[in-house]
Amino acid sequence: MCNTSKPYRDYADYLAERFQTKMQKLTVNAGFTCPNRDGTVGTGGCTYCNNQSFSPSLGDATLSVTEQLNRGKEFFARKYPTMRYIAYFQSYTNTHGSITHLLNLYNEALAVEDIDGLIIGTRPDCINKELLKSLAEINQRKRVIIEYGAESANDATLRLINRCHSWQCTVDSVAMTREFGLDVGLHFILGLPGETAEMMMHTVDQINVVKPDTVKFHQLQIIRGTRLAEQISRNEVTVKLFTIDEYLDLCAEIVRRIDPSIAIERFTSSSPDTLLISPRWGLKNYEFTNLLRNKLTLHK
Ligand code: SF4
Repeated sequence: MCNTSKPYRDYADYLAERFQTKMQKLTVNAGFTCPNRDGTVGTGGCTYCNNQSFSPSLGDATLSVTEQLNRGKEFFARKYPTMRYIAYFQSYTNTHGSITHLLNLYNEALAVEDIDGLIIGTRPDCINKELLKSLAEINQRKRVIIEYGAESANDATLRLINRCHSWQCTVDSVAMTREFGLDVGLHFILGLPGETAEMMMHTVDQINVVKPDTVKFHQLQIIRGTRLAEQISRNEVTVKLFTIDEYLDLCAEIVRRIDPSIAIERFTSSSPDTLLISPRWGLKNYEFTNLLRNKLTLHK
């Protein structure tokens, strides 16, 4: 149920329903690659994706899963000694490997003290029943949540950004994941090339049909070294880069339109300054959320 003091159901509401105590996500980089780069489903990757992030010098993939989680725990435990944790396999495509390898990594994470669950970020075309069956077994003792990068419900957009999967693929994967009793989160980007406000609202309507447990949005960011940055500099594609006020209006419209049973985790994301071309809002995620909540409360 929606907390009436909040203008929408947020991620804290979702976590509070699933876990007994306050939870913190700890990001894990388990050294995965991406099927949209290595030729499994495509090459070149999504046009907005930063090639440099595939450099082995970035991230903590040199550390084991256990080491990464223990480091993360140390950081939070100083301030919140009773905190419990969820291991978040976030970087790249965290189901892209053999089942044995995947289960070894997930079980390693769950063996770390104080880890009560897993969030596995992946593409909707990189999941199968055999893996879901094993995850459903794990879910009996520790919660497993699958997070799919859907990005848009418009196939024309998905083609333009070289996602190499369709919206129907997302719909099917969500249904299959649900069959195994697992919670599902979806991720979307607002302002993708060629997308109008109507197209973004169409995506919201489709989210309402699929009804994931959680949803994340973020503004399109133009990142140095990406194909998208190149395409824009050559005028091959046009993108709508929102001002903060325009983006607040868009997000307020989404909140009004989205099924209130779906928890919204976030609306923005911020790439490192050295990589970000635009938009450069200089706002942290929580600062944007506060602005949005004020706007929604004022215009109730
Ligand atoms: S955005 Fe995700 S799916 Fe697309 S190329 Fe990058 S890692 Fe792969």
